[in-house]
Amino acid sequence: MSMFGQVFVKDNKYKLKGDFHHMTPNTPIRNADDDYKLLGITNPRDMTYMHSYGGEAIFFESLSKRKLLATRCDDAGCDSHGTIYIPFRIYCPDCLSKNTVIDLTDIAKKTATIHTFMECQRSGAFNIMDKPIKFINIEFDGVATILMSYLSVGEPKFNMKVVPIFKTSEPTFTILDLSWVAEGTTEDQLPEGFSF
Ligand SMILES: [Zn+2]
Repeated sequence: MSMFGQVFVKDNKYKLKGDFHHMTPNTPIRNADDDYKLLGITNPRDMTYMHSYGGEAIFFESLSKRKLLATRCDDAGCDSHGTIYIPFRIYCPDCLSKNTVIDLTDIAKKTATIHTFMECQRSGAFNIMDKPIKFINIEFDGVATILMSYLSVGEPKFNMKVVPIFKTSEPTFTILDLSWVAEGTTEDQLPEGFSF
């Protein structure tokens, strides 16, 4: 019985469970312009990649709990002392000391606006987002950086106020668990599995 490969860590080691290799038959590649003569074969390969989040793990875990985390340099000797970063930076890019993790959820709910945006009618392989994808770059009061994300409800406009939503039902623990909607959107308009 085949199952997806699953991974957990015990005693500081990766422990693997399930099937990481699937036997899929190869098929011939033939030339339709020359009497279907054999040119080669396909070699199907299935891969389970173990992506470690390291110091960013708490950011993804927190999304499932309706919390948006950022980081701040608290090194008094650093020129960037007090600077707040989101996307979540584990280390200060200026002094390289470990940043303090802060909760940005309230600031995001009150002050997030669209800096700029783009709409994509097509997407690449393995993309599961609904099209058109409305990518937005978001500004927050007191934050030095701009966050790239996507708008789920509303039409993006410059300086438009947006509020965060979180995939709390069956979270994927990826950045897709965070999305945004136009201010004034009601709970019943949110995509499935998301809440404020
Ligand atoms: Zn610093």
